[in-house]
Amino acid sequence: MLETLHRIVQTVNAASDFREALDIIVDRVADATGADVCSVYLLEADAHHLRLMATHGLNPAAVGHVRLPITEGLVGLVAEREESINLENADRHPRFRYFPETGEEHFHSFLGVPIIHYQSRLGVLVVQRHARDRFNDAEVAFLVTMAAQLAGVMAHARVRGELAHMDGGPRDEALALTGIGGSSGVGIGQGYVIAAGASLDTIPDRRIDDSEAEIGEFANALEAVRADLRDLAGRMEGQLPEAEQRLFDVYLQMLDGNSLNERVHDHIREGHWAPFALRLTIAEHARRFEAMEDAYLRERGSDLRDLGRRLLTRLLALEERDRPLPAQTILVGEEVSASQLVEIPPEHLAGVVSAGGSANSHIAILARALGVPAVMGVRELPVHSLHGRALIIDGYRGRVEVDPAPALRDEYERLAREEAELTAELAGIAGEPAETPDGAAINLYVNTGLAAEIERALEIGCAGVGLHRTEFPFMVSDRFPGEEEQARLYREVLQAFAPLPVTLRTLDVGGDKPLPYFPTHDENPFLGWRGLRMTLDHPEIFLTQLRAMLRASVGLDNLRLMFPMVTRVEEAEQAAALVQRAREELAEEGVETRAPLVGAMVEVPAAVYQAESLARRLDFLSIGSNDLAQYLLAVDRNNSRVASLYDELHPAVLRAVADVAEMARRLGKPVSVCGSMAGEPAIAPLLLAMGMEGLSMSSGRLLRVKWVLRTISLSESRDLLAECLACETPGAVRRLINAAMDRHGLGGLIRAGRY
Ligand code: PEP
Ligand code: MG
Repeated sequence: MLETLHRIVQTVNAASDFREALDIIVDRVADATGADVCSVYLLEADAHHLRLMATHGLNPAAVGHVRLPITEGLVGLVAEREESINLENADRHPRFRYFPETGEEHFHSFLGVPIIHYQSRLGVLVVQRHARDRFNDAEVAFLVTMAAQLAGVMAHARVRGELAHMDGGPRDEALALTGIGGSSGVGIGQGYVIAAGASLDTIPDRRIDDSEAEIGEFANALEAVRADLRDLAGRMEGQLPEAEQRLFDVYLQMLDGNSLNERVHDHIREGHWAPFALRLTIAEHARRFEAMEDAYLRERGSDLRDLGRRLLTRLLALEERDRPLPAQTILVGEEVSASQLVEIPPEHLAGVVSAGGSANSHIAILARALGVPAVMGVRELPVHSLHGRALIIDGYRGRVEVDPAPALRDEYERLAREEAELTAELAGIAGEPAETPDGAAINLYVNTGLAAEIERALEIGCAGVGLHRTEFPFMVSDRFPGEEEQARLYREVLQAFAPLPVTLRTLDVGGDKPLPYFPTHDENPFLGWRGLRMTLDHPEIFLTQLRAMLRASVGLDNLRLMFPMVTRVEEAEQAAALVQRAREELAEEGVETRAPLVGAMVEVPAAVYQAESLARRLDFLSIGSNDLAQYLLAVDRNNSRVASLYDELHPAVLRAVADVAEMARRLGKPVSVCGSMAGEPAIAPLLLAMGMEGLSMSSGRLLRVKWVLRTISLSESRDLLAECLACETPGAVRRLINAAMDRHGLGGLIRAGRY
């Protein structure tokens, strides 16, 4: 059964649209359960009516027409109770209702299971038989499992607007999607779906007007693949066994066969571009082969897919040649890569949306460095249908608006204008100190990681670098960078900011920052081998990095060194000892270095409770609020499904941050914050009042934070902090800080954020 289920799910996932997926389900489920009928009923938007959407065994003409309230019929009862119903004499049940158009009177046994997605009722899956016997336990279990799988597919289709389309509703209706903010800012433009690198299962659709031109493109691709195959066959002649050699002939015959070409042409004439028409055709043909019991014929299905891939590659290469970019391009893809992003000329690039990835993916890091808004991890992103559509992306909230209503568009345009005005106005305080009206000062540092970020930071002015993430060069390379290479990169940052301090953080890979050439294979990477844990296990990697950092600082002496993911005091001691060892080694080689200040990040709850012990042994602490909130709240910071639970204003997070500040203060050691909390203007007064020595943030946030600090006095911030620490819910904290900001007319600074 599991094997059957697996095969059905695979085929359903490869379906080109929802209607096709439903048809596959009813056919395959009827087959697997030996039922005479299998049908899917979906709940309509009013949540009160069910409509027959696909059937195997009932009159096909009834599909889309049979409609019943959930208070009626056995199907209604399943939806109403949210429970399976298994009957041998369905027609004798008081809730049995007869629909003449289905021809249902012949079927006696009935098994219906509800389709539910995250507590929400979506429909009912039904199987029926002529015979008067109940479905057995295994069949019930199978259907329940099938319905659970179907729920995911349906929820996805609902978001993509395909359900409305099936009811005859408009396809291109407005749609709002949620992901994770990868780079702040608002982007307004037109979707541009990247097709390169797409597979036959993922190639997105594009609507075309000129079908004859498209058929011409397809013919060119066919010819190119024919030539490739002949060439390959020629080169392989005599090197392959005869049976394999004959495969080329089989491929060539398939290419010349009319059925393949004609189907592709049909789909093109329906308005699909050639790559998608090919996808549909190959899926149809391959499915027929793959459903066959005969292993030889099944194998022909994979040959066909291989051939399809070759054709697709050729088609995409042809289309890459000339592709007009919208003036304001919003790059959209399943998994947008850094190289695709840099291919778009900056003057065209208005934003990035990716179905996969997280706030720490290369692409998000790069987007932040370039100042381009980005939304990541939009699980339900209907990539297939976004090409050419109007999009607004909100990198602050992680929102994507598709074909937004004019009022919403106006609102975002106004926001973008205000943003630009504010940015221009803020430039005026670049040279001013970060000091409250009652004279309290705080250091505003920047977070860096890429060369582009360094330039921006220098333009706006700062107190130095509070966090330089060293992962990026490790992530984009295909091996660990060597000591020389690293030293050069670190020297660039140290030199750019000298004499201001630069805090280089040692390698923090693992978790959401895996290295392609050093996979960790952790089942639960955030609780696994990451950060300092990994580097301490590999002194050869760690020492290379420490030596590179120390060498880079010679003559500049502005290096601070910081360790990520410290969980135990011994780890910090061990790491500090390795810094000392690296200095000694260098001294032996004649390179004299100054002892850098050494600190730990406080980003796991254990470090909060041991902040005092850590502060006693080190020179400074820096709070990594991104990870700290994630670990305190048990919420994956990159999982859009639980994004609403990730909240830096949760009282537990505020309390932890305040406690660390207090412990460090007692020992007279400086403590700062370098997670994204430090760049939230509305939270800055609280962090100042806690006694932070500095706040480190992406450079785009710095002037906003400074503006707030220059407006609200320390004494008022202290009162606000006391009130916030007494709150029991994030909402209560949020209301207090919003009110404080409003009192000072600072709404514009925070409107873009969640506060
Ligand atoms: C943090 O966790 O807050 C932090 C600054 O580190 P990163 O985001 O690089 O994990
Ligand atoms: Mg961290």
